[in-house]
Amino acid sequence: MLPEDHAARGPVLRVAETILERAGYRRIETPVFEHTELFARGVGASTDIVQKEMYTFDDGGGRSLTLRPEGTASICRAYVDHGMHKLPQPVKVWYHGPFFRYERAQAGRYRQFWQIGAEAIGSDAPALDAEVIVLLASILDELEVGGLRLRIGSLGSPETRAAYREELQGHLRRHEGQLSDDVRARIDLNPLRAFDSDHPGTREVMATAPLLLDRLSAEDAEHFAEVRALLDAVELPYEVDPTLVRGLDYYARTVFEFTSDALGAQSGVGGGGRYDGLIAQLGGQETPACGWAAGVERMLLAAGDRPAAAPIVDLYLAVDGGEAARLRAFRIGAEARRAGLAAQVELAGRSLKGQLKQASRLSARYVAIVDDTGQVRLKDMDAAEQLEISDVDVVAQVLRGRGLS
Ligand code: AMP
Repeated sequence: MLPEDHAARGPVLRVAETILERAGYRRIETPVFEHTELFARGVGASTDIVQKEMYTFDDGGGRSLTLRPEGTASICRAYVDHGMHKLPQPVKVWYHGPFFRYERAQAGRYRQFWQIGAEAIGSDAPALDAEVIVLLASILDELEVGGLRLRIGSLGSPETRAAYREELQGHLRRHEGQLSDDVRARIDLNPLRAFDSDHPGTREVMATAPLLLDRLSAEDAEHFAEVRALLDAVELPYEVDPTLVRGLDYYARTVFEFTSDALGAQSGVGGGGRYDGLIAQLGGQETPACGWAAGVERMLLAAGDRPAAAPIVDLYLAVDGGEAARLRAFRIGAEARRAGLAAQVELAGRSLKGQLKQASRLSARYVAIVDDTGQVRLKDMDAAEQLEISDVDVVAQVLRGRGLS
C-alpha cells in the first residue's frame, strides 16, 4: 500500500469509525494469526475458505497456525477467552485490518485485503440484525458507494436447516446427471452452495429446488419478518433473496449482502449475518450474535476516485549557507514540530532555487531561508511578504500567521 493508497483509505476508516462508535461499537484488535483449529471449527470445514484458501504453516514449536482469513471466529474466541459474557450484553465491537485468503487474484480480489467489520454479541433481538445492517448501509452511503443493492435472506435455525439440507440433497441427487462436477462432489458436504453455481445445468436444477425460506419455523419466520419491518421503518430498500448463501458455515437466521453494480465480477462489497451457534461451538455458552465484514478495497473501487487532500506544510526550512546554517534550520524545524506546526527541512542538498521550488510543490505556507548572516528570511507565501527575523522568533511568527497562538 503506497502513501497515496493510504491517503485514499483514510476517509473510509474515519467514516466507519465515526458511524460505529456513535452506535456504541468499540474497536477490537485480534492477532493476525491464530491456531488453525479455530478457523477450521469457526469458519466450517466444508467452506471454500477452510478447504482451499487458508495460509497455514507450522511454527517452530510444531503448532499449526493460520493467517486469519476472516474476523468473526477470532472475535468469538476473544469473547470466550476473556469472559465477555459477564459484561452488559450485547457486546458491540468493530475492527479494521488485513486478512489473507489464497484465491485467484484479480481486480477486487486479493490475497491480502483489508476489511472493516462489526460484531454484536449476546442478543437475539431482530433489532440487532437490523442495526448492523443499517450501520453498514450508512457507511456505504456516506462513502457514496455507487450502484448499491442489499439482499437479505434467512437460513433459519440449525434444525430447520438440517431438515432442509436433506430435502435439498434429495433434490440434487434426483438430478445428479445435470449438475456440474463441483456441485455433485459437494452434495454431501455443502449442498447449499449449489445456489451459487453459474453452471447452466445446475442452474436449471436449482430453479425447481425447494427453498429454505419456505421451510422456516414459525419463530424464525417471525424473527425475519421483524428484521424486515425494522428495515422498512428506516426506509432502507432491500430485496429478499431466498437463494442467498453466505460462504461461511456458521450463519443462522438472518444473512445479508451488499453488492455494487459499479464493480465487475467481484461485486460483493460487504455482508454478514447472524451466527447464533458459533460461540458455543468454540467452547462458550450458547450466545446469539450478529455481524458483518466489508472489503475496504471494494468500497474504494465502488466509491470511485476521491482525490485525497494534500498534506499541509506550514513551514519549509531552506538553507542558504554552510554547516552552521544547516544546524540552525534543523533546530528550527524540530522546534516548529514540537509547537504543533507541520514543518519540513531540506534534505536533498538542493540549491536555493531548487529548495524554493520544492517548497512551492509542497504548497508550504511559509518558507524560512536560513543563511550565514545569523538571521532568517521568513517568506509568507500567500501574502508574498518577507520578514527578516532571528531564529527564536520564527516559530512564534508562523504560529501567529496560522492563527495558532
Ligand atoms: P466474506 O468474509 O467472504 O463475507 O467477505 C466480506 C467482504 O470482504 C466481501 O464482501 C469483500 O468486500 C471483501 N473480500 C472478501 N474476500 C476478498 C478478497 N480476496 N479480496 C478483496 N476483498 C475481499
